[in-house]
Amino acid sequence: MNPALSPILLRMIGKILDLVKDRLCTRCGTCVGICPKGALSLDEACYPTSNGKGCQECHLCWEVCPGKSENYADLEARGQEGDPSPWNVNGHVRTVYLGRAMDPAVLRSGSSGGLVTQLLIHALERGEIQGALLAGYSAQRPWEAEPVLARTPEEVLSCAGSKYCVVSTNAALRDAKKIEGRIGYVGLPCHVRGLRLLMQKDSVWRDKIAMVLGLYCHHAWESEAALWLMMRRGIDPKKVRQFRYREGNWPGRVQTRTNGTWINLHSERIDDFISYILLTHAPNRCLLCTDAPNRLADLSFADAWLPKEIPEQDNWTAVVVRTRKGEVLLEQAHRRGVIRLETTDMATALCRQERMAREKHAMARVLIKKRTRRAQPFPDMPREPSADPWIPLFRRICFETIYFLRQFRVCRALMFDLLVFRLVRFRGSLRRVLRGLSPQVQKGWRATHPK
Ligand SMILES: Cc1cc2nc3c(=O)[nH]c(=O)nc-3n(C[C@H](O)[C@H](O)[C@H](O)COP(=O)(O)OP(=O)(O)OC[C@H]3O[C@@H](n4cnc5c(N)ncnc54)[C@H](O)[C@@H]3O)c2cc1C
Repeated sequence: MNPALSPILLRMIGKILDLVKDRLCTRCGTCVGICPKGALSLDEACYPTSNGKGCQECHLCWEVCPGKSENYADLEARGQEGDPSPWNVNGHVRTVYLGRAMDPAVLRSGSSGGLVTQLLIHALERGEIQGALLAGYSAQRPWEAEPVLARTPEEVLSCAGSKYCVVSTNAALRDAKKIEGRIGYVGLPCHVRGLRLLMQKDSVWRDKIAMVLGLYCHHAWESEAALWLMMRRGIDPKKVRQFRYREGNWPGRVQTRTNGTWINLHSERIDDFISYILLTHAPNRCLLCTDAPNRLADLSFADAWLPKEIPEQDNWTAVVVRTRKGEVLLEQAHRRGVIRLETTDMATALCRQERMAREKHAMARVLIKKRTRRAQPFPDMPREPSADPWIPLFRRICFETIYFLRQFRVCRALMFDLLVFRLVRFRGSLRRVLRGLSPQVQKGWRATHPK
């Protein structure tokens, strides 16, 4: 760090830099985006660093940092205009729907049903927002993403689709503040938590943010994973023009284009594939996160992985309504005819997400225990006994071993090949054998959705 920095600056910014050192930083970019003096910036890997400008010791960067806590009870109670919800795996739920965009171009561009994109376009067209803060692909390194402040429906559409890499969306709050009027916001749970802490502190932001649209999140990937995927196919990253984490017919595949046609970077289904990348390339802080369902959003969006047997099972977004504001937005868009909504039960829409959220929580618990044993810092976690699922010993040992080995590049490379390709292929073959085993689900869907 620059030795000319004042002791005050060192003290305040030092706290944030400690989080980086302890791998508790979520890289959401909130500290960078809100610093009134611009004393922080992002390094290449999206970690905040001091840039030598004066710090006025306002403490804001520390107060809005989502890295230090996973305990959401207080914010949930304030943010969701209702009684404090008991800690449960789905968070505070008013209603659940399955939804999709009516505009075919939006439906095609979205990762699931294009619902997030369609709702933002709807809000822009009605003048409810004057801009939207979301994530778009980087022009220089197309497998990475960067925050985008979209002001037109075309710009929103160009940012559709999930980017499974780390994006410091909140670093663009600095530019968002300059927009006249209100903005819509899309983010992962860590982004949303940073934003909610900011909204709690500062009424300007409370008024400025018209809607908080949150994506369910298992984890992001370190960009090394994307580079290794390309190298495995013999593609030179320097020649890559476009990269998409979900390209093609739903559910899509990770694909890239140097010129001409899209090239698949894996052969098996994306959901299987992604869940193994978690083991080798999820950022350390993601593995300590317990917020899969994006508990603090107005609306949370997930892929509705409906069983194959259900007619029209592709391209649906499962949307969880958490606040009155979210409900009104959905109702308006539905009444205007820009989205299709189907009522559904939690079990149909969110059964896979529930499992994923429990797994995520369980994994974080394993690592927290490990950090406690080693006297390493960890985020403040909810203490409810129900949130501490039992983890079979075998799985725990496997996870701890992988977590240890993945620190070393050569082990990571071997595991990447073994887990992300060989094991996934084996699982895919097994799945094909077992296909067609869910007639009850098919029956249930027909009963609730008569033609
Ligand atoms: C890292 C990550 C992990 C996810 N994990 C799961 C999961 O485990 N289970 C599940 O059901 N769903 C998960 N999702 C959500 C899912 O992939 C879809 O984003 C969601 O279903 C909404 O689909 P849609 O078609 O309605 O959204 P779209 O219309 O495609 O719009 C998506 C919006 O999200 C923004 N966006 C994309 N990536 C990011 C990002 N990294 N950070 C901030 N904003 C972003 C885009 O700019 C766009 O505005 C994840 C998404 C991400 C990005």
